[in-house]
Amino acid sequence: MLRVGVVGYGTIGKRVADAVTAQPDMTVAGVAKRSANYEAATAAERGYPLYAADPDRAGSFRAAGLVLAGDVDDLAAGADVIVDATPAGVGAENAATYAAHGTPAVFQGGEAADVAEVSFCARANYDEAVGAASARVVSCNTTALARLLAPLDEAFGVEKARVTLVRRGGDPAQTGRGPINDVVPNPITVPSHHGPDVGTVLPDVPVDTLGLKVPVTLMHTHGVNVTLERPPEADEVRDLLAGESRIALVPGWLGVDGAGKLKDLALDAGRPRGDLWENCVWADSVAVRDRDLYCFQAVHQESDVVPESIDAVRALAGTATAAESVARTDAALGMGLSFGAPGYGDGPTGRPVSVGVDGATADD
Ligand code: NAD
Repeated sequence: MLRVGVVGYGTIGKRVADAVTAQPDMTVAGVAKRSANYEAATAAERGYPLYAADPDRAGSFRAAGLVLAGDVDDLAAGADVIVDATPAGVGAENAATYAAHGTPAVFQGGEAADVAEVSFCARANYDEAVGAASARVVSCNTTALARLLAPLDEAFGVEKARVTLVRRGGDPAQTGRGPINDVVPNPITVPSHHGPDVGTVLPDVPVDTLGLKVPVTLMHTHGVNVTLERPPEADEVRDLLAGESRIALVPGWLGVDGAGKLKDLALDAGRPRGDLWENCVWADSVAVRDRDLYCFQAVHQESDVVPESIDAVRALAGTATAAESVARTDAALGMGLSFGAPGYGDGPTGRPVSVGVDGATADD
């Protein structure tokens, strides 16, 4: 059993802790929190030992009746691997503490690439992280781009990708980011930093990105254009993407016209917190013109990096190959939206349209 410590128990950290709990080969050693708030209460209810991220605030935990098992130093000493999910920049400050205990650490995409030995996306470069002392799971947008571009490059060769990222303005709980009513090029400079970030895990795939921020909290949406070396039929692309366990091809008959219905579908499907770990690619948006492939994909920023964080733990610990880890993570989480399962019915063409582990169909 790998004992995983989670430092920073916010949007990403609490999902990582629950995903660790779901794994057959991992257990939560503890979670480090700064504030004695509702998330600390939830962690305690779930039985996660609480550690003080800021010892000066330990009194507020005691006052709220929350028992502390120690501080971040203690957690790093007792864990086999740390997943740091603190706000951008804090992970870099914490890195020395993990290193001092010789505890491998997984950082998140808000950190600069040099926070870790290697940047990480399981579909792109799992093997580079095997046995490393640290890995940075790339951001939600970068993860989604790498998952899409890696199979396209393998199958058809990517000459150049150009992607417009319509980015959510904030997460649902980030009240401090609103209210807003605007569409903001962000960053205003082109290309945005996301393309070079893809290069940290897929160095041979050229991609330029443009970013916009919009007043939504649900998901990011990507408008994708990829110039391919060997142009396929659109159906070949759909079949390729349908075989990817972390891409959900959303069929038109579902009537899912945007991120709102995708999130509703996730809740109907009983997903924890309404999470969508998969890239959601609209099947009807897949189009090929000459050598140019186009599609739209929606990306649930709060959860797509969670399975990657689990795989990064196994890579650092050296306990599984890429294929073993991805299969184990996917099975434990319940990856794959089964659009043909009871409650959804078969598609109008009668063709199985779900995406599951190892490309399994709805009937599996
Ligand atoms: P968040 O603000 O929701 O959660 C961070 C948590 O860490 C909060 O509970 C905060 O109180 C706590 N914290 C602050 N300082 C701390 C410290 N010194 N020690 C321990 N805990 C501390 O942030 P988040 O959205 O979960 O982001 C975490 C990381 O994940 C960032 O690098 C971010 O860029 C990245 N990320 C975020 C998203 C997203 O959409 N939210 C997506 C992908 C990656």
